[in-house]
Amino acid sequence: MGKLGVYIHIPFCIRKCNYCDFCSFPDKDGSAMREYCDELCRRMRAFSEDNGRREVDTVYFGGGTPSLLPSVCFESLFKTLRECFLIDADAEITVECNPATVSRESLEGLHELGVNRLSIGLQSANENELRALGRLHSFEELCESFGLARTVGFDNISLDLMYGIPEQTLESFENSLLHVCELAPEHISSYGLKIEDGTAFGRMRDSLVLPDEDEEYEMYTLCRRVLEAHGYERYEISNFAKRGYESRHNMRYWKLEDYIGFGVAAHSCIQNERFGNSRDIAAFLRGEDIVEERYSVNVDERRREYVMLGLRLGKGISDSEYRAFCGRGLLDDMPQIEKFVSAGYLVKSGERVAFSDKGFFVSNAILSDLLN
Ligand code: SF4
Repeated sequence: MGKLGVYIHIPFCIRKCNYCDFCSFPDKDGSAMREYCDELCRRMRAFSEDNGRREVDTVYFGGGTPSLLPSVCFESLFKTLRECFLIDADAEITVECNPATVSRESLEGLHELGVNRLSIGLQSANENELRALGRLHSFEELCESFGLARTVGFDNISLDLMYGIPEQTLESFENSLLHVCELAPEHISSYGLKIEDGTAFGRMRDSLVLPDEDEEYEMYTLCRRVLEAHGYERYEISNFAKRGYESRHNMRYWKLEDYIGFGVAAHSCIQNERFGNSRDIAAFLRGEDIVEERYSVNVDERRREYVMLGLRLGKGISDSEYRAFCGRGLLDDMPQIEKFVSAGYLVKSGERVAFSDKGFFVSNAILSDLLN
């Protein structure tokens, strides 16, 4: 059995950002967080009793706002993680942070526990845009948190940026990109804003002034130009890294490697089994089974996953890997590849096929054509 990645979902935030569709709840006095972490520990122990002490080379605390957890919770989670799993000495251990919820003390605590990568949500360096998004922090606070993290010893930090924000212009996005490059994190994620139903933005949909599709495309290509000029390579549709700093945990998802998720809304992929937990935190705290979808992946689904996830990567998919899944070549099953190559949406290089810039931007439409 290969190594495993562990994902731990921490579904608590001080308050909801206007665009947020992630599974997160407020916890005013911290009592739910403690109860939640105790239950996470119980479920990790149950997993290791059933599956043995699996070797782990990536751990990822996502949310929500994991950096909101009191240090005592992190301490018990790490104690249990090390009891239940064999964590590699050089495992990548990431914690997502909100700049409004970290202090020198909390960062030192994380570093001492073995956390070696931080993923900090910035979204924009423009104060009006941060306010529009409902973020709790200013750009100045992000810079302070970032500086503290460096002082404490974190040498692998990722910052998240967003484009397509209401009232955002090409110029203000470029400004955010340049400010981020000045900070020189090792990794940058840059996502286009999606307006989801059930969010504050979803309810305000008709009154939001959003960049149109052409402007968004310009932002997308600007992002790549600016980041590449500063030494970041795009290794996935929305992710850029200095060489050697690609997110090892996220690569597991895109390369169909095994991971186990603990907590509400967490997903798992173990060999050919997929399962996803519901968002029902009350049932989780009662110790109930919250798996709401579980299925085995057959050869055809695995082939589709390979194309869907592999094409997210800068290096794309390969004919030989595809043959290993299903015994046929890429062009046997997807002759449309040639049409997209001629139109400049896909690029062929040797046995590999990858999206061009233009293709990445409309990747969903192309994938649906290829896979249907
Ligand atoms: S901090 Fe993140 S998870 Fe929490 S509300 Fe904002 S976007 Fe959602």
